Amino acid sequence: MSEYDYDLFVIGGGSGGVRAARIAAGYGARVAITEEHRYGGTCVIRGCVPKKFMVYAAHFAEDFHDAESYGWNVESPTFDWNLLIKNKDNEIDRLNSIYIKLLENAGATIFNGHGTVLTPNSVQVDGDTITADKILIATGGSPFIPSLSGSEHAITSNEAFYLEELPERVIVVGGGYIAVEFAGIFNGLGSKTELVYRGDQILRGFDQDIRDHLAEEIGKKGIQVLLNQTIESIELTAEGARKVTYANGETSVADQVMYATGRIPNTENLGLDTINIETGATGEILVDQYSRTNLDNIYAVGDVTDKIALTPVATMEGHCFADTQFGNTERIADHREVPSAVFSQPQVATVGLTESEAREKFTHIETYKSEFCSLKLSLTDNTERTLMKLIIDGESERVLGAHMVGAESAEILQGIAIAIRAGATKSDFDRTVGIHPSTAEEFVTMRTPVS
Ligand code: NDP
Repeated sequence: MSEYDYDLFVIGGGSGGVRAARIAAGYGARVAITEEHRYGGTCVIRGCVPKKFMVYAAHFAEDFHDAESYGWNVESPTFDWNLLIKNKDNEIDRLNSIYIKLLENAGATIFNGHGTVLTPNSVQVDGDTITADKILIATGGSPFIPSLSGSEHAITSNEAFYLEELPERVIVVGGGYIAVEFAGIFNGLGSKTELVYRGDQILRGFDQDIRDHLAEEIGKKGIQVLLNQTIESIELTAEGARKVTYANGETSVADQVMYATGRIPNTENLGLDTINIETGATGEILVDQYSRTNLDNIYAVGDVTDKIALTPVATMEGHCFADTQFGNTERIADHREVPSAVFSQPQVATVGLTESEAREKFTHIETYKSEFCSLKLSLTDNTERTLMKLIIDGESERVLGAHMVGAESAEILQGIAIAIRAGATKSDFDRTVGIHPSTAEEFVTMRTPVS
């Protein structure tokens, strides 16, 4: 009989923590888990899932318009923000209870409260002390607003999901995933939307052609993209709006100002100092390839480690941890060639190297590009253009990267990611028969390199 209450205690009931708890319990480990908000974590409760519902909602505006060119008579559709929020919340409640059921069915003991590590083998939750052989920290991250005068008048994505009304005018700050996605949501739903980014092009880190193409497309759809711009202060006006003063002295007024300027790891009040867990510059927990901290029996997975802040990466890390520690199968999370998508309008999806990354690593790079108006839109006056791009190592012929801006690009790139993981070459792509007529077939019909 173990000297501890549990074999594993997990702090944090999001994607990484729940996966680790379920898999470890499945191997017969005695597992307990605690969550201070709601089981499901950022992704399910206030991230990927509700965001995608809002992206769908926003896209209908364009769909109604495009449908007219296909003969549909769509008389002035109206939008009800409160109904969207209500239906979204109901679905989140359902998913939250599924997460709890999954844990119960796996045999994990469920706590609801803030967990603090007391010693390397004990955790406190709401006054109760629980002991465990191993502790896994999977507490995620939270949005952060840089300090500026009037920052209390700004919101983050956390609040955007629960606004009482759709803002007529909104300023979204940042140029990353969340900023670009929410600018698209607000713009699609009818808010006058400004996207304010401090750098010279949105989506830093993505392929340059993709960044330029997306900026142009979202501009065409009505988002006012302000580059090389920062906000100095935010004031409340007499009417309750937000007056923003930019660094160049110009001003703008909106009903909401939403900051999407990155997220920071949730490490406060976790007791990390008490037991001397090593953290990095932004408070992230430092771990090795097995997700182990500097203490032998304490591990961390997901956004709290600030490696790649994506749900599937957190679940992969949690699963590998559980397999290795409780399933007698040593597994290391592989952070290479992780595909991702930005659910902007149009979507961006990417896997592998960008052109500039490839040029740094390889001497002979070939790129293939295709830009076109999709068949679906050719009957309409919608001027959205799709861009697809492949990056090839000219020597080995291996496909190093695939990038796309366009409808369903996330769905398309998921399959391409399998090919790239499997080491596919350009000739493998070339001899694959396309599915016609589709947008995706363009990835197997690009024949002439552009550089
Ligand atoms: P990102 O890191 O993607 O983007 C942050 C943005 O804010 C960048 O444009 C950054 O500029 C800017 N920024 C940072 N600090 C400041 C500042 N002080 N003033 C002005 N601008 C600033 O973070 P997000 O918050 O968008 O998302 C967090 C993470 O969540 C993402 O990295 C992603 O991993 C994940 N995510 C994934 C999604 C998906 O898979 N679809 C959706 C949403 C989030 P700069 O580029 O100059 O640094």
